[in-house]
Amino acid sequence: MNTAAIDQTNARSLDSTTASMVDPFGRAVTYLRVSVTDRCDFRCTYCMAEHMTFLPKKDLLTLEELHRLCSAFIAKGVRKLRLTGGEPLVRKNIMFLIRELGKEIEAGRLDELTLTTNGSQLSKFAAELVDCGVRRINVSLDTLDPDKFRQITRWGELTKVLEGIDAALAAGLKVKINAVALKDFNDAEIPELMRWAHGRGMDLTLIETMPMGEVDEDRTDHYLPLSEMRKRLEADFTLKDIPYRTGGPARYVDVLETGGRLGLITPMTHNFCESCNRVRLTCTGTLYMCLGQNDAADLEDDAYLAQVIDDAISRKPKGHDFIIDREHNRPAVARHMSVTGG
Ligand code: SAM
Ligand code: SF4
Repeated sequence: MNTAAIDQTNARSLDSTTASMVDPFGRAVTYLRVSVTDRCDFRCTYCMAEHMTFLPKKDLLTLEELHRLCSAFIAKGVRKLRLTGGEPLVRKNIMFLIRELGKEIEAGRLDELTLTTNGSQLSKFAAELVDCGVRRINVSLDTLDPDKFRQITRWGELTKVLEGIDAALAAGLKVKINAVALKDFNDAEIPELMRWAHGRGMDLTLIETMPMGEVDEDRTDHYLPLSEMRKRLEADFTLKDIPYRTGGPARYVDVLETGGRLGLITPMTHNFCESCNRVRLTCTGTLYMCLGQNDAADLEDDAYLAQVIDDAISRKPKGHDFIIDREHNRPAVARHMSVTGG
C-alpha cells in the first residue's frame, strides 16, 4: 500500500467524530484479529493440506503497512488486538510489529495485545513478548503424546512446544491452552490434558473442528460435538457454568476437582455469533467481517480507509452458517483458517 495514502487516511480516521464501529445488529466492534502470515512451520491435519500453496511473498503487506492498518482500527475504537496466522512467530522480524503495537498499550489506546501461537518459537520470544507489553497468549496444543503430536501437526515437535510453554510461564505470561477436540484422536486424552493445564495454572479451551478450506482428510471423521465431550467429562468432573468471559466466543465452566477453568468454543453445536465483537484482517490487507462468511473488504491501496472500514462494518453479517455432516461434506468457506487466523 502507498504509505502516504495510509498516513492520510490514518489522519482521517483519527479526525473522525464517529470513532466507534457498531454493526447493523448493534454489536460494537472492539476486537481486531490480524493474520500476519498464512505460512506455518506445522501442517495440522484439520487446518492445512500437506502441500499448501501459500501467498507469494510479494503480495504480503509489509509490517509497517500492517502497523498502519492496525493503528487505523485502534483510532476507530478497537481495544483488543490479537496476532495470529498461520504461525505469527515465524513471520520475519515480527517483533518489530509487536513492539510498535505494544506502544499503543503504553499510550492507553489499546487494552490488550495478545497472540495465538503453536508455541514452537516461544522459547526464543517469550521474554521479548513480555517486554513489548504482551501479558497473555493462547498456545494451541491438541495432545501431550509426542507421536500423536507429530501425527496431527505433521511437522511439529512436542518437546519444543513444551519448552516454549515453560519459557512463556517463566517469563510471566498467562497462557491459555487451546485444543481442537477430535473424535478418535484426542477425545480420550482430554481429561489428562485438562489436569496437566490446570495443574500448571493454565486455562484449557476446547474447540469444535470447523469446515474451513480443503484438507487431505474428511473432517466429519473426527468431528466431535462438545456437548458430547462435556457429558463425558461430567462422568469424572464437576463442571459449573460461570459467567466469566474474555470477549470471545468461549463459554466457561469451573472444574471443581482441578480448580481450573475450562472453555468451550462451539461454533457448530451452538452458534455464538450474537455477541461477536471482532473483525479479521489478513496479511494482504483483506478485512473479513465474519470467520465463516466470504464477504470481505480490500483495505489495500485505498485512500479512504476510514470510509472503507465503516462500509465494511455496515455489512457485518449476523453470523456464520457452518454445518458439518456427511451431506454437507464440503468446507463452508474455501479459505483455510490460517488465512484469517483462528
Ligand atoms: N498457528 C497458530 C496456532 O496454531 O495457534 C495460530 C493460527 S491457528 C489457524 C489458530 C487456531 O485455529 C488454532 O488453535 C487451531 O487449532 C485452530 N484451527 C485451525 N483450523 C481449524 C479448524 N478447521 N477448526 C477449528 N479450529 C481450527
Ligand atoms: Fe499452523 Fe496453527 Fe494451522 Fe497448525 S493450526 S497448521 S500451527 S496455522
